[in-house]
Amino acid sequence: MALKKLVAGNWKMHGLSNDLAEIEAIAAASSEYPEVDVALCVPAILIERAARAVPGFPIGGQDVHHAEKGAHTGCISARMLLDAGAVLTIVGHSERRDAQRESDAEVRAKAEAALGCGLSVILCVGEMLEVREQGAAVPTVLAQLDGSLPDRSTSDAELAIAYEPVWAIGTGKVPTPSEIAEMHGAIRKRLTDRYPGEGERIRILYGGSVKPSNAAEIFAVPNVDGALVGGASLSAGDFMPIVAAAAGAG
Ligand code: PEP
Repeated sequence: MALKKLVAGNWKMHGLSNDLAEIEAIAAASSEYPEVDVALCVPAILIERAARAVPGFPIGGQDVHHAEKGAHTGCISARMLLDAGAVLTIVGHSERRDAQRESDAEVRAKAEAALGCGLSVILCVGEMLEVREQGAAVPTVLAQLDGSLPDRSTSDAELAIAYEPVWAIGTGKVPTPSEIAEMHGAIRKRLTDRYPGEGERIRILYGGSVKPSNAAEIFAVPNVDGALVGGASLSAGDFMPIVAAAAGAG
C-alpha cells in the first residue's frame, strides 16, 4: 500500500527571527504539492512565531519532556509545544540519544506523552557505523524500536518512524537502496506485528544526508514513506526539490 509521503525538516539548533522568511517560503511552496505532507521542526523558541507566520502549515518541536509538568529546568512539555502552536514533535533523535544519553525507555515515555496530548510523533531509530560494519544493523534497530515504541491504545495521534543511520547524518554518506529497503522492510514487519491493523499505515521515513540529488532514488525504495531532512531543510532552495521528488514518487 502506497502511503502519502511525509517530508519533515529538522532545523536542529538553527534559526533566528530573520529565518521566518525561509519558513514562509517553504510553506508557500509546499502548498503546490498537496500530494505530500510537509512539516518543519524548528527550535522551541521559534515555534510560536513560526506557527503564527504560516497558519495551517505543520510546525513541530524537536524533543519533548515525558512529564506533564514539574521541576525540570530547561525542559518543555507536550502541552507547552501544543500551546505554542506545534502539531508534531521529533523524539529519540540520535543527537539526543547520544549527547543527552536518552534511553529507549525515555524515548518511549516522551512519545507517549506527546501522543497523549494529541501531538504527532516522529520517532527516530538508527545504528552506529560499527554496528553496520559488524552486520548487526537490523537486529540493533529492531531492538531500539522494541524499547522505544509507544503504547498506541491511548491516542489516535499519528506516529511515524524515522530510520536514520547515525553514520549518514550530516556526513553526505547514504546507505544503498538495498540497505534502506532491507531496514525499512524489517521495520514494517515489526510495526505490523506490534500494531495489528495500524502497522501498515505507519509512515517510515528515511533520514541521513537526503539531498535534491539523491531524494528521488531514496523515495523509490519500497517502504520509504518520506524523509526526515536536516541540513537540506534550512533553505527552500534545497528543501523544495526534495518535496518535489516525493510528489513525483507518488
Ligand atoms: C537529521 O539530523 O535528522 C538529518 C537527517 O540530518 P541531515 O539531513 O543533515 O543528514
